[in-house]
Amino acid sequence: MSGIRYPWDAAPEHGEAIEVAEGVLWMRLPLPMTLDHVNIYALDDGDGWTIVDTGFDSKTSREIWEKILAGPLKGKPITRVIVTHHHPDHVGLAGWFQADHGAALWTTRTAWLFARMLQLDEQAVPTQESLDFYRRAGMDEEVFQQRASERPFNFSDVVAPMPVGFKRVKQDDVVRIGGRDWDVHIGNGHAPEHATFWSRDDNLVLSGDQILPSISSNIGVYATEPEADPVGDWMESCARLSQYAREDHLVLGGHKLPFTGMPLRMKQLIENHHGALDRLMEHLDRPQTAGECFLPIFKRQIGGPAYGLALVEALAHLNHLYHVGKVRRTLRDDGAWLWQRVE
Ligand SMILES: [Zn+2]
Repeated sequence: MSGIRYPWDAAPEHGEAIEVAEGVLWMRLPLPMTLDHVNIYALDDGDGWTIVDTGFDSKTSREIWEKILAGPLKGKPITRVIVTHHHPDHVGLAGWFQADHGAALWTTRTAWLFARMLQLDEQAVPTQESLDFYRRAGMDEEVFQQRASERPFNFSDVVAPMPVGFKRVKQDDVVRIGGRDWDVHIGNGHAPEHATFWSRDDNLVLSGDQILPSISSNIGVYATEPEADPVGDWMESCARLSQYAREDHLVLGGHKLPFTGMPLRMKQLIENHHGALDRLMEHLDRPQTAGECFLPIFKRQIGGPAYGLALVEALAHLNHLYHVGKVRRTLRDDGAWLWQRVE
């Protein structure tokens, strides 16, 4: 098994593109977060372009898209938008491309339902269910009080309205994009029903956030489904998708750089979570809340803007151990779950 290689050591500038294969352009849009970018791909369909993922809906994104349309896309229309999963950095402008550019939206059914539901579900204050969920997670009191008092993050802040209508992409579909036939394989764990595309005609894989190099995809539990086991879903997906991984695959993911060496990367993705789960089991020799489990899972304490993502990921690992019967949980007086390993 050989190492992971990055054929390009730098990303394209905003508004510019790098041709990573014949008729396949790699572009980037900025994100106002620690993870400060998302990768976008455009595939040449002859009379138009298919784009894969869109970036946030923001003034900056739309300006960069105008530059991309006039520049690398040479004024040819975007006829189809493929969205790998429902997260806002990927789906943000899908509705805009549908409504203003006449593009068709192709995505999984769950991605579409989640994206449209969340885009419409604007909240001025956190719901009681969200607050209960934070309590169950044992959220740090200061963070809790702050969240309880402010307008929560809303999908509609960064996702354009989504008109009714999409084309469903599902497991075992073969779709034609950019002069190639692609097998669709569905992953789970980072987002439910996450689409990936594997070219039958060359070595390209459009992996979204299901397979990323150098960073781990966030695997979180949310108030929408507090009992979910996304770590279990993630492990199942990694094991299944790794069967198709080849050394020469050029993986075009949602973040960071295109890479080769997918068999090793899949192995790492699986091992990372086994390691975290083992350390977590050690840590649970006495009762702990999810908020007290950062050190064994991430090997460091996490505060500041990453606190929320760390908390939902800690909960995901605890839920997994709970569902496989390795830990039990009891409610503390303040409403927080205390997790402890089953001896
Ligand atoms: Zn992403």
